[in-house]
Amino acid sequence: MPIRILDADSAAKIAAGEVVERPASVAKELIENAIDAGATDIRIELKDGGIALLRVIDNGAGIPAGELPLAFQRHATSKIGSIEDLPLVATLGFRGEALPSIAAVSQVSLASRPAGAASGSQLRVHGGEIVEQSSLGCPPGTGVGVRELFYNTPARRKFLKTPLAEGGQVTRLVGHFALAYPGIAFSLMADGRAVFRSSGGGDLSDVIARLYGPEVARGMIPVDLNDGLQVRGYVSQPQVSRASRSHISLFVNGRLIQGRSMLHAVEEAYASLLMVGRHPVAVLNVNLDPAQVDVNVHPSKAEVKFAAERQVLGRIHQAVHQAVARYAPVPVIEMRAPLIGSVPGPLPPEFRSQNSEFGGAGTEFEPSRGTFSGGQRPVDAEFRVPNVLGTLPMLRVLGQLALTYIIAEGPGGLYLVDQHAAHERVRLDAIQRSRQNDTGQAPDAQLLLQPLTVEVSPVQAAAAGAAQPALSRLGIELEPFGDRTYLLRAIPAAMRLDQARDTIGAMLDELAAEAPGDWDDAAAHSLACHTAVRAGQALSEEEMRALIAQLETCWSPQACAHGRPTMVHLSQAQLEREFGRR
Ligand code: ADP
Ligand code: MG
Repeated sequence: MPIRILDADSAAKIAAGEVVERPASVAKELIENAIDAGATDIRIELKDGGIALLRVIDNGAGIPAGELPLAFQRHATSKIGSIEDLPLVATLGFRGEALPSIAAVSQVSLASRPAGAASGSQLRVHGGEIVEQSSLGCPPGTGVGVRELFYNTPARRKFLKTPLAEGGQVTRLVGHFALAYPGIAFSLMADGRAVFRSSGGGDLSDVIARLYGPEVARGMIPVDLNDGLQVRGYVSQPQVSRASRSHISLFVNGRLIQGRSMLHAVEEAYASLLMVGRHPVAVLNVNLDPAQVDVNVHPSKAEVKFAAERQVLGRIHQAVHQAVARYAPVPVIEMRAPLIGSVPGPLPPEFRSQNSEFGGAGTEFEPSRGTFSGGQRPVDAEFRVPNVLGTLPMLRVLGQLALTYIIAEGPGGLYLVDQHAAHERVRLDAIQRSRQNDTGQAPDAQLLLQPLTVEVSPVQAAAAGAAQPALSRLGIELEPFGDRTYLLRAIPAAMRLDQARDTIGAMLDELAAEAPGDWDDAAAHSLACHTAVRAGQALSEEEMRALIAQLETCWSPQACAHGRPTMVHLSQAQLEREFGRR
């Protein structure tokens, strides 16, 4: 085919594909316009998941009658005057593309009345053509109705999912906006049914409660870091987790961001506190100098580029990590049934979150508010002194149980420490610490005088190939030696030489099964696990004391490398209840 210039209609429909993919993308553009217009009340209505009708009504500044047709022209915007304005743009929109793109592939009617105007006016646009303009009475603000999305591009309509699925995406989107803008009242109706409403009262935890329920809201930890770059919001305690990432809402200067790098920064801040496959609930607003962010790098602006990417991601990671590590509680032993009928049963778990930094003994701590509610017993002064990082109580070892658990006494009761999980945490911390003073070299690698041959299975061989650089950074030097054989030239100090073959075999099996995205991380976890003491191993009192002392210096002492708890706590208050002492 010879080169030709497309006719205007085809060009418009093709360009629309970049902005308008489905009802949720239409909703995003219309809601952003309403926010840019200063609305404090935004109503969204759907029919058939937004395919038959998607309407957004706001109480914002409105559009003067004379400017209505302009709003539907490509590159027509009131938000920037020229490219020079872009670096400092404070509005969500600026390309002047959304309305024309939407109108090219649907039947749009827009009614608007600026606050001062005597009446409003309406414009109807079908498939990009203005079909009617008239004046009409309407309240101040703007209403945009989008009907029959893709009615004139059947190929694209075919790609839409069911109304239920499309409506679900709009619902999630509205939830995100409500979280980003607690000061705006959002409401969503679908097929005449009220789906969601936020109050617009400005309280983020209130929006979280409406969206995810009061229990989740109570389990959220405030995040507040402010030093030039501001990171604010809430993240969930590690024990409040979800099977998908859809409960993570991240905003940069008020823009919903869906890029992976910020997600990773948040999730990595939990490190091993979350079980594999679980994800936190999080709402984080990152605010920084607009000149430090390029917002024009993605067709639907779902990603941004930071001038100082590493620093920004580092700060996000740090803000979340500090919040989470400080609040990670020791799980409390649940007594299934009170031993004596008259003794009140344990409190529901949400009221019983213990935080050792604040003492513990019989003190109920409400993480969502950061306040005490009814501490029954004063805490001994010495127990108030937190350890280095304020996350683990000081424990006195009493003995070993079933060759698996260390029994210890601590502030406010009895602690059972899983020796393997605890040691795994200690090992992982040591590995991560040595990695931070990164010299590129594994600091404690022991060169073997005689290299060992390690035979591997085909599955292990594949993992060994992929993991080799990561293993080498941990001090495990494997060198290919024939088809299914490796030469082991160095091992980390923590690994016993007589167990090196077994340990490395087990690590390779684990890595092969996991096929991780981050080999360094997975290899570190695996090494920590396979060099830690096992359950069933007798420990001397001295060894137990040393282990507990090491655990006290760890960042997240209450969870092992796989996110399982390292210890459980039976509080003094519970003991007293169980024995009917009060
Ligand atoms: P952009 O948002 O990039 O400027 P749009 O195509 O989304 O481009 O909108 C074009 C213009 O129409 C906006 O710049 C704004 O002036 C006006 N407009 C659109 N929606 C609204 C609204 N809900 N309230 C007030 N003005 C609006
Ligand atoms: Mg816009």
